[in-house]
Amino acid sequence: MITLALDIGGTRMKLALLENGKIVKEGIVESYRDDKYQKNLDKAEAEGRRMMAELGIERIDGLGIAFPGLVNPKKKVVVSANGKFVDAIGYDLTGWVKRTFDCPFILDNDSNAALIGEMTYGCAQDTKDAVMMIFGTGVGAAAVMDGRLIRGKHFQAACIGGHMVIEAGPDATPCNCGNIGCMEANASSWALPLFAKKDPLFESSALSRLDVIDYKNLKACADAGDELAVKLLRRSLDCWSANLCNLIVAYDPEVIILSGGIARMGEALRRPLEEHVHKYAWTPWGHPDVRLAANPEASVVLGLHKLTMDEIEGKTAL
Ligand SMILES: [Zn+2]
Repeated sequence: MITLALDIGGTRMKLALLENGKIVKEGIVESYRDDKYQKNLDKAEAEGRRMMAELGIERIDGLGIAFPGLVNPKKKVVVSANGKFVDAIGYDLTGWVKRTFDCPFILDNDSNAALIGEMTYGCAQDTKDAVMMIFGTGVGAAAVMDGRLIRGKHFQAACIGGHMVIEAGPDATPCNCGNIGCMEANASSWALPLFAKKDPLFESSALSRLDVIDYKNLKACADAGDELAVKLLRRSLDCWSANLCNLIVAYDPEVIILSGGIARMGEALRRPLEEHVHKYAWTPWGHPDVRLAANPEASVVLGLHKLTMDEIEGKTAL
C-alpha cells in the first residue's frame, strides 16, 4: 500500500510517499500561515501529484494529514490553530479529499503522529510507554501509555504538553494560547527572538547581526562563546528539562523521544535533558531513557503512514 503523508507546519509543508514503512519519495513546499487554508492545501496537492508522477503512480491508497494544532480526528476537522491558518478551523477536509485524491484519509495532531512514527518504525519500537517532545515553530508533545495513544475527551490530552506551565505569578510570560507561563512561551522557535531582543546584552551580541534568530544560529553563536547565546541556550535547556519532568509526572513513560528541527542539535540537546531528568525526576522505578528520534525530519510522516494504514484496515479506534 502506498500512502501520501502531508505534514503541515507553520512555515513549510513536508510531503512523503511511503510504502511498507519506508519513505519512497519526499517533497516540500512553503506554507503561508496567513493565507487561506484551501490555498495551502491546493499547493500541497500539486506537489503530491508531482511526486506521484515522478514515481509513475496514478493513485494512492490513503492520505494522512498532520496539523500543528488541535484537531478532532474523529470528525476530521481542525479545532484550534493558535493563530495559524485562521480559516482552517472547521474546514471541510473530507470534501477537499473527495475532490482531490478521493481515498481514505486521516487527520491528526503532528506530535501524535510523530510519536506513533517513532514507536512503529523509529527509535522506540521496544516500548509501549513513551512520550514525545517535538520541536517545530512551537513545542508539541504526545503520550502513549500501555500501547494506547492518549487523546482525552476533547482530543487535547498530551498533544499540547508544550503548554505545561513552568512560571507562576502575574509577571509570567504571555503565551499565544491565551495562558501565561507556558513552557513554549519561554523556550521555542517563536519565543526565542522575543527573548533575545529584550535582553540588555542583545546590542553587543552576535545575535543582533543575524537575519534569523533560530536555534541553529543560537547554537553556533553559543559555540563561538557569545554571552547572550550561551545564556539563552542554557535557559531553553532548563525550560525543556522542566517540561520533561512534568511529562514524566503526567504520563509515567519509560522512553522519552526528542524530535523535530531542534533535535538536530543531537547530543547537545539530549545529554543535558537526560542529566536533568535522571537527577531530579521522581522515578523510584529507575530512569526513563531519553532518545533522539531516528530521523527527526521523518517522525511525523512515518506516523501518518501507520495511522493511514490502520484507517484503511479498519483498526482505528477513536
Ligand atoms: Zn501556552
